[in-house]
Amino acid sequence: MRKKIVAANWKMNLDLTEGAELVNDIFKGLPVLNEYQQVVIAPPYLHLTQTAAQLTGLIDVHLGAQNCHSEASGAYTGEISASMLKSAEVKYVIIGHSERRQYFKEDDATLAKKVNQALSNDLQVIFCCGEPLEIRDANTQNTYVEKQIKAGLFHLSEQQMTDVIIAYEPIWAIGTGRTASSAQAQDMHAHIRSVISAQYGTDCANDTSILYGGSCKPSNAAELFACPDVDGGLIGGASLKANEFLGIIEAMAEV
Ligand code: PEP
Repeated sequence: MRKKIVAANWKMNLDLTEGAELVNDIFKGLPVLNEYQQVVIAPPYLHLTQTAAQLTGLIDVHLGAQNCHSEASGAYTGEISASMLKSAEVKYVIIGHSERRQYFKEDDATLAKKVNQALSNDLQVIFCCGEPLEIRDANTQNTYVEKQIKAGLFHLSEQQMTDVIIAYEPIWAIGTGRTASSAQAQDMHAHIRSVISAQYGTDCANDTSILYGGSCKPSNAAELFACPDVDGGLIGGASLKANEFLGIIEAMAEV
């Protein structure tokens, strides 16, 4: 059975003290989760060892990173490798976020290499995809997202796909306050699942968690998470406030 996941992407926010306080506040209000429900916290790199220490002993909350480099090691000043993440007790890594694609010009080939680095270091990949507004307006979002998924993931074996989670994040909904409707999210998630099924078979597709991201908040999480193909969320802005993030976790716990 596939997992339900709520993952926090702090992006480039919070200093170490603020990060530690946020994690403590989340712990204080964390609802009871079952074995198929998980929380992931992906702080900036600088926080990883601190957050890892705070998460020691918790089985429902895992450490994530927001990125890794596409090469194993070498002269890449300022970069962090997947094996370094592994050594910092990171379990998940976000790859292909639209901000990485847009601001850091990460293309499909680079993202496929990052996916390989992550998987060969036993990290689970949260692979992001999603269309810009002009693609949605032209109603070509299915083809657009399908291409991103094929280019980033379809060189993998079925076994490797078991360590991949997909996050559908329409760019027009990220940080804008404009959420995809539950019908729009469900349509795209079902499409993504059918694309995986065509390549890897129904069992693999049914076992793949597909998260929604884009202005998800406590007030819309329950409706989004109730969709049959929406398996939780990747949360930006609302993950920076304990009460909002906890509200979203509760929505997952109650589905
Ligand atoms: C994100 O950037 O992954 C995201 C979903 O951001 P927000 O929740 O702020 O829209």
